[in-house]
Amino acid sequence: MNYILTEKIRIGISACNFGAKFRYNRAGWDRVEALGRQKDDYIFTPVCPEVLAGLGVPRPPVKLSGGNGDDVWAGTAKIKNRLGRDVTEAVKAASLSSMEALHRAGVDAFLFMEGSPTCGVYRTTLKDKRLGKPPGVFGALLLKERIFLIPAVDLESPWKWWDHTRRLHAFIWLKNIAITSKKDIYEAWHVLKFICQEIDRPLSDNVGQSLASLPAKMGTLEIESWRTRVLQLLRRPSTLKRIQSVMFKHYAHYRKTFGLKETEAHAPSEFLGKAAFVEELMKLERKAAEQGYLFLGRPIAYKPARP
Ligand code: SF4
Repeated sequence: MNYILTEKIRIGISACNFGAKFRYNRAGWDRVEALGRQKDDYIFTPVCPEVLAGLGVPRPPVKLSGGNGDDVWAGTAKIKNRLGRDVTEAVKAASLSSMEALHRAGVDAFLFMEGSPTCGVYRTTLKDKRLGKPPGVFGALLLKERIFLIPAVDLESPWKWWDHTRRLHAFIWLKNIAITSKKDIYEAWHVLKFICQEIDRPLSDNVGQSLASLPAKMGTLEIESWRTRVLQLLRRPSTLKRIQSVMFKHYAHYRKTFGLKETEAHAPSEFLGKAAFVEELMKLERKAAEQGYLFLGRPIAYKPARP
């Protein structure tokens, strides 16, 4: 098995987070800029279901009525604008068209606008700390796909982006590798076990223990159900506390293994800002990869060709 991704990763994004002033009140943010040079490593496909639905900019804001996005697809809830106009069918049609565009573009991940009744995944309102009725109408479609999901606002947090990318690369690797036997599953699990344990220990232990009960000869359905289970695990967001502890662990381990001196690698305490520490960590990861050493918490390397 090859543990390096070299093809440029394609990512869908809520257009209002890619610089388009598409929100109901003409708001928009260019969050990708926060990635600096790293943004050249990805190909983006912006979509906006509400604009595609013909709702216009500016427009009265929409909200879910009678349930969440799943209920809208089941026909038991509606999406209405502030004036009470039912826009359910238009938003559903535009969400399906947006998903088709993402499929055509071959995206493996989506940067979603959290808090939107359309694009939101874990919350559908931005008011206070309320969650609203998640997922949103388009968010419900995204959750059903083998697409890695990232709140677009996390592009502005170096810590969170670091965590998303290590899980994203593992996700894409697992999504695409050929698995035809129980032996392949064991091999894939050996690569992903550590990162999965860091994300969710009980769930990961459960996956590990269930390996023994898998049938010797596995059919496509069984293989794909195992793959989906682990892909969903890799998609789970981490907490800042957990990310922090993982990063310090990696750092200390690498320094110890290679006996790095203070001049080659700074101690975490020397960094005032989180961004500087993440930068240092990524530098160490690149250095480690050149020596053929892979951090267990980032088991799949990403080296796209740069023009
Ligand atoms: S949240 Fe989604 S639907 Fe709303 S403006 Fe942004 S891209 Fe369009």
